[in-house]
Amino acid sequence: MWLTGDDIEYAFFYACMLAPVAAFVAVLIISLMRVVRQDRRHQQTQCPDCGYRLQGLPPGTIHCPECGYVLWRGR
Ligand SMILES: [Zn+2]
Repeated sequence: MWLTGDDIEYAFFYACMLAPVAAFVAVLIISLMRVVRQDRRHQQTQCPDCGYRLQGLPPGTIHCPECGYVLWRGR
């Protein structure tokens, strides 16, 4: 089956229509993966930003010793 000129025009039109949607979905998925990864790090007592293991630090530590990320903002 060969594509005719009209088919190619339709394919190009739909590709142009779908490109922004695909880009939006990609950004959405990447953002979601980042949130999930940060949440998992938080549960594993790792720095959400750099993944540094926070076990063994003195209680009341506010900043990540590796990257300076603010761990606890207080109340
Ligand atoms: Zn860190």
